[in-house]
Amino acid sequence: MNVTAPSGCDICVVGGGIVGVAAARELELRHPGAEVVVLEREHGLAIHQSGHSSGVIHAGIYYAPGSLKARLCVEGARRLYDYCAERGVAARKDGKVIVATREGELPRLDELERRGVANAVPGLRRIDPGELREIEPHASGIAALHSPATGVVDFRAVTGAMADDLTAAGGKIVTGCEVHALTAQASSITLEHSAGRTEAAKAVLCAGPWADRLAVAAGADPDPRVVPFRGAYLRLKPERAELVRANIYPVPDPDLPFLGMHLTRDPSGAVLLGPTALFVGARDAYRLRRVVPRDLVESLLWPGTRRMIRRFWRTGIVELRHAVSIGSFVEECRRYVPELRREDVERSSFAGVRAQAIARDGSLIDDFVVSETERAVHVRNAPSPAATSSLALAELIADRLDAVS
Ligand SMILES: Cc1cc2nc3c(=O)[nH]c(=O)nc-3n(C[C@H](O)[C@H](O)[C@H](O)COP(=O)(O)OP(=O)(O)OC[C@H]3O[C@@H](n4cnc5c(N)ncnc54)[C@H](O)[C@@H]3O)c2cc1C
Repeated sequence: MNVTAPSGCDICVVGGGIVGVAAARELELRHPGAEVVVLEREHGLAIHQSGHSSGVIHAGIYYAPGSLKARLCVEGARRLYDYCAERGVAARKDGKVIVATREGELPRLDELERRGVANAVPGLRRIDPGELREIEPHASGIAALHSPATGVVDFRAVTGAMADDLTAAGGKIVTGCEVHALTAQASSITLEHSAGRTEAAKAVLCAGPWADRLAVAAGADPDPRVVPFRGAYLRLKPERAELVRANIYPVPDPDLPFLGMHLTRDPSGAVLLGPTALFVGARDAYRLRRVVPRDLVESLLWPGTRRMIRRFWRTGIVELRHAVSIGSFVEECRRYVPELRREDVERSSFAGVRAQAIARDGSLIDDFVVSETERAVHVRNAPSPAATSSLALAELIADRLDAVS
């Protein structure tokens, strides 16, 4: 990777997560000979969300038909499998079940099935408890959906492969370079950063947890704000990993943009349980107690956060319980894998922090949000399944940037 930021380039992409790298790759391939430069503040790629996810290639079931998520996830997953096959990145398409355990969840399972069919999710079908047992012998429920097109991959490896494509095509990646200001001129945009300044014809901002700050720095509305939600995981002990063949998911709460705690066999064969979804005091709260005063103050001063807390405080208490008590965490997962016991799991230091955009009115924004300021395109909300969707999302970002004059 290059160490010095150039003083000028054609397109400057801020953020070396999977979305930024995919967008830079798409732009470099689309405009051969253009100088595309990625500026990343950490000393490596995929250090934040892209390197701290469940690693699930989502098939596109959950998302409102017609939304960006619905379109880009189905298309993105298809392209991601092809890309991994082409580039030799290990991806396993071993399916998933979404399990309803109570009568009250059946209308929501129906709605998921309706959405999945409307979104043209490949192979999705309703299964009965007997078929569920055949697919996942240790799962139990009164009805389920089976999605054979769901899979797993290491998104860090995908980001690495895309970064190689970018540099092979002539693009540059500069790490250890934090951007803090953007100023648009008549025919260029200047990015001020820890290594000086870079003047680009156009810029793309894919800063994940810090996306709102760069958007505001470029003159955009502060609405929506990014608020961090920590996702902690447990791991099944290797001798009990046979409890899960592939992916077992609950029926999610329709009021929240999170999919609920699931059991996932990752690409290495280990089974992860999680993630939790706890509002935390830092955008990089990989440790539960980490607090960054600026992050916490910005979250709490945002009217949307206070409205969200008033609405979801009960859910917050449940999440806090899961975060501090392994017993409560396991109890939740035991609803759909009844044989699971406290002694089957071990703590894992692995945790991720979701960058979730919250609107001023307190709603948790579900769909991807991509917007423009002068000479720049901003990705302001790219939660799950943005890693799955990255190749398709990159195309949308490049289309939007090409339209920016
Ligand atoms: C717990 C968890 C589980 C998830 N599970 C899944 C899943 O199973 N499947 C799925 O598809 N998605 C999943 N996701 C979502 C997925 O990880 C994200 O949607 C995706 O990684 C977003 O990528 P990104 O590039 O936008 O953000 P990030 O990966 O967070 O990258 C943003 C980058 O911008 C850099 N940056 C920020 N500010 C600056 C600045 N000022 N200057 C320079 N650089 C800057 C950061 O250092 C960072 O590297 C999960 C997320 C979490 C947290």
